[in-house]
Amino acid sequence: SIEIRGVNKNFGDFVALQDIDLSIPSGQLTALLGPSGGGKSTLLRIIAGLESSDSGSIEIEGVDATGVPAQKRNVGFVFQHYAAFKHMTVEKNVAFGLEIRKKPKDEVRRRVAELLKLVHLEQFSHRLPSQLSGGQRQRMALARALAIEPSVLLLDEPFGALDAKVRKELRDWLRRLHDEVHVTTVFVTHDQEEALEVSDNLVVINEGRIEQIGTPDDLYDRPASDFVLSFLGPVT
Ligand code: ATP
Ligand code: MG
Repeated sequence: SIEIRGVNKNFGDFVALQDIDLSIPSGQLTALLGPSGGGKSTLLRIIAGLESSDSGSIEIEGVDATGVPAQKRNVGFVFQHYAAFKHMTVEKNVAFGLEIRKKPKDEVRRRVAELLKLVHLEQFSHRLPSQLSGGQRQRMALARALAIEPSVLLLDEPFGALDAKVRKELRDWLRRLHDEVHVTTVFVTHDQEEALEVSDNLVVINEGRIEQIGTPDDLYDRPASDFVLSFLGPVT
Protein backbone atom coordinates (compact mmCIF):
# COMPACT_ATOMS: atom_id res chain seq x y z
CA SER A 1 0.00 0.00 0.00
CA ILE A 2 0.94 3.68 -0.16
CA GLU A 3 0.70 5.29 3.28
CA ILE A 4 0.56 9.07 3.30
CA ARG A 5 0.66 10.72 6.72
CA GLY A 6 0.29 14.39 7.59
CA VAL A 7 1.41 15.73 4.22
CA ASN A 8 1.31 19.50 3.75
CA LYS A 9 2.51 21.48 0.75
CA ASN A 10 2.64 25.22 0.25
CA PHE A 11 3.79 27.19 -2.77
CA GLY A 12 4.81 30.49 -1.19
CA ASP A 13 1.83 31.37 0.97
CA PHE A 14 -0.58 29.34 -1.18
CA VAL A 15 -1.72 26.14 0.52
CA ALA A 16 -1.74 23.39 -2.14
CA LEU A 17 -2.20 20.38 0.19
CA GLN A 18 -3.40 20.43 3.75
CA ASP A 19 -3.05 17.61 6.29
CA ILE A 20 -3.32 14.75 3.81
CA ASP A 21 -3.73 11.35 5.45
CA LEU A 22 -4.37 8.59 3.00
CA SER A 23 -3.90 4.88 2.64
CA ILE A 24 -3.92 3.55 -0.93
CA PRO A 25 -4.42 -0.23 -0.98
CA SER A 26 -2.03 -2.57 -2.81
CA GLY A 27 -3.01 -4.13 -6.10
CA GLN A 28 -5.96 -1.83 -6.65
CA LEU A 29 -6.74 0.97 -9.03
CA THR A 30 -7.37 4.15 -7.08
CA ALA A 31 -8.58 7.35 -8.75
CA LEU A 32 -7.66 10.81 -7.45
CA LEU A 33 -10.62 12.86 -8.52
CA GLY A 34 -11.33 16.56 -8.14
CA PRO A 35 -11.65 19.90 -9.87
CA SER A 36 -8.81 21.73 -11.56
CA GLY A 37 -6.36 23.25 -9.09
CA GLY A 38 -7.49 20.92 -6.28
CA GLY A 39 -4.03 19.45 -5.71
CA LYS A 40 -4.22 16.11 -7.54
CA SER A 41 -1.02 16.46 -9.56
CA THR A 42 0.84 17.91 -6.60
CA LEU A 43 -0.08 14.89 -4.47
CA LEU A 44 0.86 12.48 -7.26
CA ARG A 45 4.20 14.23 -7.76
CA ILE A 46 4.88 13.98 -4.04
CA ILE A 47 4.14 10.23 -4.16
CA ALA A 48 6.46 9.94 -7.18
CA GLY A 49 9.24 11.88 -5.45
CA LEU A 50 9.21 14.59 -8.14
CA GLU A 51 8.14 17.17 -5.56
CA SER A 52 8.96 17.32 -1.87
CA SER A 53 6.33 17.89 0.81
CA ASP A 54 6.79 20.49 3.58
CA SER A 55 5.88 17.95 6.25
CA GLY A 56 4.64 14.41 6.68
CA SER A 57 5.75 10.99 5.51
CA ILE A 58 5.22 8.60 2.60
CA GLU A 59 5.63 4.86 2.74
CA ILE A 60 5.46 2.75 -0.46
CA GLU A 61 4.81 -0.97 -0.09
CA GLY A 62 6.31 -1.06 3.38
CA VAL A 63 9.36 1.08 2.58
CA ASP A 64 9.78 4.60 3.94
CA ALA A 65 10.08 6.78 0.83
CA THR A 66 10.12 10.18 2.59
CA GLY A 67 12.91 12.24 1.04
CA VAL A 68 13.94 9.42 -1.32
CA PRO A 69 14.49 10.71 -4.90
CA ALA A 70 12.18 9.57 -7.71
CA GLN A 71 14.71 7.26 -9.41
CA LYS A 72 15.05 5.25 -6.22
CA ARG A 73 11.35 4.81 -5.47
CA ASN A 74 10.60 2.14 -8.06
CA VAL A 75 7.57 4.00 -9.37
CA GLY A 76 6.38 4.16 -12.97
CA PHE A 77 4.61 7.27 -14.24
CA VAL A 78 2.69 8.46 -17.25
CA PHE A 79 1.64 12.05 -17.80
CA GLN A 80 -0.95 13.68 -20.02
CA HIS A 81 1.63 15.03 -22.43
CA TYR A 82 3.73 12.15 -22.61
CA ALA A 83 7.45 12.24 -23.12
CA ALA A 84 9.34 9.81 -25.34
CA PHE A 85 12.66 9.80 -27.12
CA LYS A 86 11.67 10.98 -30.57
CA HIS A 87 14.64 9.43 -32.36
CA MET A 88 14.11 5.99 -30.79
CA THR A 89 11.74 3.31 -31.99
CA VAL A 90 8.85 2.10 -29.84
CA GLU A 91 10.89 -0.95 -28.92
CA LYS A 92 13.93 1.14 -27.87
CA ASN A 93 11.76 3.50 -25.86
CA VAL A 94 10.25 0.62 -23.91
CA ALA A 95 13.68 -0.97 -23.42
CA PHE A 96 15.31 2.22 -22.16
CA GLY A 97 14.54 1.85 -18.45
CA LEU A 98 15.86 -1.71 -18.50
CA GLU A 99 19.00 -0.80 -20.43
CA ILE A 100 20.00 1.98 -18.03
CA ARG A 101 19.59 -0.57 -15.25
CA LYS A 102 22.06 -2.78 -17.13
CA LYS A 103 19.74 -5.75 -17.55
CA PRO A 104 21.09 -8.57 -19.73
CA LYS A 105 20.26 -8.19 -23.45
CA ASP A 106 18.17 -11.36 -23.77
CA GLU A 107 16.15 -10.45 -20.70
CA VAL A 108 15.51 -6.97 -22.16
CA ARG A 109 14.41 -8.47 -25.47
CA ARG A 110 12.04 -10.92 -23.79
CA ARG A 111 10.55 -8.34 -21.45
CA VAL A 112 10.05 -5.75 -24.22
CA ALA A 113 8.25 -8.32 -26.38
CA GLU A 114 5.99 -9.21 -23.44
CA LEU A 115 5.21 -5.56 -22.75
CA LEU A 116 4.47 -4.71 -26.38
CA LYS A 117 2.08 -7.63 -26.47
CA LEU A 118 0.44 -6.48 -23.24
CA VAL A 119 -0.29 -3.03 -24.71
CA HIS A 120 -1.09 -4.43 -28.18
CA LEU A 121 1.72 -2.68 -30.00
CA GLU A 122 3.63 -5.75 -31.26
CA GLN A 123 3.25 -4.74 -34.87
CA PHE A 124 4.48 -1.18 -34.19
CA SER A 125 7.76 -2.05 -32.47
CA HIS A 126 9.94 -0.50 -35.22
CA ARG A 127 8.00 2.72 -35.61
CA LEU A 128 9.02 6.07 -34.22
CA PRO A 129 6.72 7.74 -31.67
CA SER A 130 5.79 10.37 -34.30
CA GLN A 131 4.36 7.53 -36.43
CA LEU A 132 1.84 6.49 -33.75
CA SER A 133 -1.61 7.83 -32.93
CA GLY A 134 -2.15 9.63 -29.61
CA GLY A 135 -3.75 6.57 -28.05
CA GLN A 136 -0.96 4.29 -29.27
CA ARG A 137 1.60 6.71 -27.84
CA GLN A 138 -0.04 6.60 -24.42
CA ARG A 139 -0.06 2.79 -24.57
CA MET A 140 3.66 2.91 -25.35
CA ALA A 141 4.14 5.25 -22.38
CA LEU A 142 2.37 2.69 -20.18
CA ALA A 143 4.61 -0.10 -21.46
CA ARG A 144 7.64 2.09 -20.66
CA ALA A 145 6.36 2.78 -17.17
CA LEU A 146 5.70 -0.92 -16.54
CA ALA A 147 9.08 -2.04 -17.92
CA ILE A 148 10.92 -1.53 -14.64
CA GLU A 149 8.29 -3.61 -12.79
CA PRO A 150 7.35 -0.66 -10.58
CA SER A 151 5.77 -1.30 -7.20
CA VAL A 152 3.35 1.51 -8.01
CA LEU A 153 2.10 3.01 -11.25
CA LEU A 154 1.18 6.71 -11.20
CA LEU A 155 -0.94 8.09 -14.03
CA ASP A 156 -1.67 11.82 -14.30
CA GLU A 157 -4.57 12.30 -16.71
CA PRO A 158 -2.88 9.93 -19.14
CA PHE A 159 -5.74 10.13 -21.64
CA GLY A 160 -6.60 13.77 -21.02
CA ALA A 161 -5.34 15.02 -24.37
CA LEU A 162 -7.23 12.44 -26.46
CA ASP A 163 -10.67 12.68 -28.01
CA ALA A 164 -13.68 11.30 -26.17
CA LYS A 165 -13.98 8.06 -28.12
CA VAL A 166 -10.32 7.06 -27.81
CA ARG A 167 -10.39 8.12 -24.18
CA LYS A 168 -13.25 5.76 -23.45
CA GLU A 169 -11.51 2.90 -25.28
CA LEU A 170 -8.29 3.42 -23.36
CA ARG A 171 -10.14 3.69 -20.08
CA ASP A 172 -11.73 0.26 -20.65
CA TRP A 173 -8.42 -1.07 -21.81
CA LEU A 174 -6.62 0.24 -18.70
CA ARG A 175 -9.18 -1.54 -16.54
CA ARG A 176 -8.52 -4.84 -18.34
CA LEU A 177 -4.76 -4.28 -18.21
CA HIS A 178 -4.98 -3.66 -14.48
CA ASP A 179 -7.00 -6.83 -13.99
CA GLU A 180 -4.10 -8.66 -15.68
CA VAL A 181 -1.17 -6.91 -14.01
CA HIS A 182 -2.58 -5.93 -10.57
CA VAL A 183 0.06 -3.32 -9.91
CA THR A 184 -0.94 -0.70 -7.32
CA THR A 185 -2.14 2.15 -9.53
CA VAL A 186 -3.07 5.76 -8.81
CA PHE A 187 -4.98 7.43 -11.61
CA VAL A 188 -5.53 11.20 -11.60
CA THR A 189 -8.55 12.58 -13.40
CA HIS A 190 -11.01 15.45 -13.14
CA ASP A 191 -13.58 13.40 -15.06
CA GLN A 192 -16.18 11.93 -12.67
CA GLU A 193 -17.46 9.36 -15.14
CA GLU A 194 -13.96 8.14 -15.92
CA ALA A 195 -13.11 7.80 -12.21
CA LEU A 196 -16.34 6.00 -11.34
CA GLU A 197 -16.03 3.57 -14.23
CA VAL A 198 -12.39 2.68 -13.99
CA SER A 199 -11.46 2.58 -10.31
CA ASP A 200 -11.78 0.28 -7.32
CA ASN A 201 -11.49 3.25 -4.95
CA LEU A 202 -11.79 6.98 -5.27
CA VAL A 203 -10.20 9.82 -3.38
CA VAL A 204 -11.98 13.12 -3.90
CA ILE A 205 -9.70 16.13 -3.47
CA ASN A 206 -10.75 19.75 -3.45
CA GLU A 207 -8.78 22.85 -2.47
CA GLY A 208 -5.93 20.76 -1.11
CA ARG A 209 -8.06 18.64 1.22
CA ILE A 210 -9.54 15.18 0.98
CA GLU A 211 -13.32 15.37 0.80
CA GLN A 212 -14.04 11.66 0.72
CA ILE A 213 -12.44 8.24 0.25
CA GLY A 214 -14.50 5.26 -0.84
CA THR A 215 -15.65 2.88 -3.51
CA PRO A 216 -17.66 4.23 -6.45
CA ASP A 217 -20.81 2.91 -4.71
CA ASP A 218 -19.93 4.61 -1.40
CA LEU A 219 -19.48 7.95 -3.10
CA TYR A 220 -22.53 7.65 -5.23
CA ASP A 221 -24.87 6.35 -2.53
CA ARG A 222 -23.42 8.20 0.46
CA PRO A 223 -21.62 11.40 -0.59
CA ALA A 224 -19.84 12.80 2.48
CA SER A 225 -20.36 16.47 1.66
CA ASP A 226 -22.34 18.86 -0.48
CA PHE A 227 -19.18 19.27 -2.51
CA VAL A 228 -18.99 15.55 -3.35
CA LEU A 229 -22.70 15.45 -4.11
CA SER A 230 -22.55 18.38 -6.49
CA PHE A 231 -19.27 17.26 -8.05
CA LEU A 232 -20.65 13.78 -8.83
CA GLY A 233 -24.11 15.15 -9.50
CA PRO A 234 -24.02 15.41 -13.30
CA VAL A 235 -23.27 11.69 -13.73
CA THR A 236 -26.27 9.82 -15.10
P1 ATP B 1 -5.64 20.08 -12.82
O1 ATP B 1 -6.87 19.22 -12.81
O2 ATP B 1 -5.92 21.42 -13.46
O3 ATP B 1 -4.43 19.41 -13.35
P2 ATP B 1 -4.65 19.65 -10.10
O4 ATP B 1 -5.70 19.17 -9.15
O5 ATP B 1 -3.72 18.68 -10.66
O6 ATP B 1 -5.36 20.49 -11.26
P3 ATP B 1 -2.29 20.91 -9.03
O7 ATP B 1 -1.50 20.94 -10.26
O8 ATP B 1 -1.91 19.93 -7.99
O9 ATP B 1 -3.85 20.80 -9.33
O10 ATP B 1 -2.20 22.35 -8.40
C1 ATP B 1 -2.79 22.67 -7.15
C2 ATP B 1 -2.59 24.15 -6.88
O11 ATP B 1 -1.20 24.40 -6.63
C3 ATP B 1 -2.99 25.04 -8.06
O12 ATP B 1 -3.64 26.18 -7.57
C4 ATP B 1 -1.66 25.39 -8.68
O13 ATP B 1 -1.72 26.67 -9.28
C5 ATP B 1 -0.70 25.38 -7.51
N1 ATP B 1 0.64 24.99 -7.94
C6 ATP B 1 1.00 23.79 -8.45
N2 ATP B 1 2.33 23.75 -8.72
C7 ATP B 1 2.80 24.97 -8.39
C8 ATP B 1 4.10 25.57 -8.43
N3 ATP B 1 5.17 24.89 -8.86
N4 ATP B 1 4.21 26.85 -7.98
C9 ATP B 1 3.14 27.52 -7.54
N5 ATP B 1 1.90 27.02 -7.47
C10 ATP B 1 1.72 25.76 -7.89
MG1 MG C 1 -3.14 18.14 -12.60
